[in-house]
Amino acid sequence: MDYYSVLGVAKNATPEDIKKAYRRLAHQYHPDKGGDTEKFKQVSEAYQVLSNQEKRAQYDQYGRVFEGGPSAGSGQAGFGGAGFDFNGFDINDFNLGDIFGDVFGFGGGRGKSRAKNRGDDIEIEIKLDLKDVLTGLKKTIYLGKMANCKRCNGLGGEPNSKVKECFTCRGEGEVQELRKTMFGQVARFVVCPECKGQGKIPEKPCNVCSGEGRVKEDQRIDLNIPAGVDTGQVLKLESAGDAGIRGDRAGDLYIKIIVKSNPVFQRKGDDLIAEKEITFSQAALGGEVEIKTLDGNNLSLKIPSGLQTGKVFKISGKGITHFSGWGKGNLYVKLVVKTPEKLSKKQKDLLEMLKKEGV
Ligand SMILES: [Zn+2]
Ligand SMILES: [Zn+2]
Repeated sequence: MDYYSVLGVAKNATPEDIKKAYRRLAHQYHPDKGGDTEKFKQVSEAYQVLSNQEKRAQYDQYGRVFEGGPSAGSGQAGFGGAGFDFNGFDINDFNLGDIFGDVFGFGGGRGKSRAKNRGDDIEIEIKLDLKDVLTGLKKTIYLGKMANCKRCNGLGGEPNSKVKECFTCRGEGEVQELRKTMFGQVARFVVCPECKGQGKIPEKPCNVCSGEGRVKEDQRIDLNIPAGVDTGQVLKLESAGDAGIRGDRAGDLYIKIIVKSNPVFQRKGDDLIAEKEITFSQAALGGEVEIKTLDGNNLSLKIPSGLQTGKVFKISGKGITHFSGWGKGNLYVKLVVKTPEKLSKKQKDLLEMLKKEGV
């Protein structure tokens, strides 16, 4: 079997050409997709050899590979055939989606493994008073998290030190890992453990962060919480999570909102509900009642004479600012007539007179 013709590449093909050809063919012959299993095995075998510099050199010179790899003609593990040998693979490898996901880049398998350098997301909780929700709140917090190392600017190298190509992966950022499967050995790409997928490493790792490009520190974060938020809402502050490794993308900061309950105002969506006690005479005679709104201002409410207890008044636009869009909710005030518990002599006499009048 000529590995070059199996992959359909020239003898002087670049590693990139070989990888491309392999991905295309492996996809085409994938047994899961009804492809030709025998072809699939050949393609995998050819790729294992040609993608490895050492093995490829051996193959070019001698027409075969001696150690640590499949030599031409050794592929006897005929898949689906009667002589199928169960000894050669791990039962876990039956999970094909897992194995091939990485090899063929299904569902962004490579992207996912690359993303390991990305900083972690952080979730925090912020407690707000209901009053803060009216206007929104600017709040400064100090968050212990991974931050870009200042000495190396997050790059991981000592200042003025050079960056060299990673020896382990030869600058590719990923290395192959061979796994035995029911189709024989399959090469799988994993993030290079040496350079963490960057393809380059600093010649002299930074003294402060040991080359990781980030350090743990308390970082000041200015939160700007918009008006109208509610309990359970989660705000996202992009890239304010942990810094990534060697300048890779930072994680995000998620701010979970908790609005404390207020002794006077009950919140229903963006509306506020409050109770206001009035005296018997106010209810009977009508007039103006002073209402304190959530923002602390006084508002006078005109009530008619002969008001019954429990009557609700709507005050437009004095509720919570809508989180999305313009405007505000309403304030609903329930007027409750309070029966006096203690009376002065004079009050008692007056009420006695009212009683005689039949009120
Ligand atoms: Zn550093
Ligand atoms: Zn590397």
